[in-house]
Amino acid sequence: MNIVLFGKPGAGKGTQAPKIAEALGVPTLATGNVLRAAVKLGTPLGREAKGFMDRGDLVPDSVILGIVREELARPDYASGVILDGVVRTVPQAEGLEGMLKTLGRKVDAVVSLEVPDEEIVRRMGSRTVCSTCQTPYSDLAPGAKCRNCGGVVMRRSDDEPEAVRNRLKVFTEQTVPVFDWYRRNGARLVVVDANGPVNDVTQRVLHALGK
Ligand code: AMP
Repeated sequence: MNIVLFGKPGAGKGTQAPKIAEALGVPTLATGNVLRAAVKLGTPLGREAKGFMDRGDLVPDSVILGIVREELARPDYASGVILDGVVRTVPQAEGLEGMLKTLGRKVDAVVSLEVPDEEIVRRMGSRTVCSTCQTPYSDLAPGAKCRNCGGVVMRRSDDEPEAVRNRLKVFTEQTVPVFDWYRRNGARLVVVDANGPVNDVTQRVLHALGK
């Protein structure tokens, strides 16, 4: 199954993706995680992406589609993928469709995680992430140890108020049209209330997907 997780920054894509992936037996692909790892390592990709990310702007489509193309070619993704953080623009939706087509596949569902704005602002204010494995947390302070890998938990530089405001604006302007694009192209759209306990939201998603 190939699933696109859709939702505002802070809607819970990074929290839900691994849980949905585990339940469906397919891996996740999170472009934000790939990019943060590249920034940390100081690779050419990381150096190119860092400025866009710190401002809360989108990294160019050509860079994102390059990452997706490279990853989807790996055998791990042969059975499907949960895409977390792609697709964020219409050209990305078109590019992904072309890539999947050559593999004889398509996007099986677009799952929109819906959360009220007040809740997004609250979540972003207290969110941390593991600097090694990228697991997101709402209950660990910066400097704490990651429960998944033992790495150091930190704030994301783009979770500060100015970058968050820009990310929400970018979402409205560039990412909302993606949902309409999928609607026009006959994709299966699944809207899920993502406000509530993490496991409840996972169950809602699986139920909505008929799993
Ligand atoms: P995320 O972890 O998904 O919130 O992504 C963090 C940042 O990485 C975003 O604010 C963008 O700067 C960049 N990024 C991640 N995925 C994409 C994408 N599909 N298109 C453009 N930029 C992206």
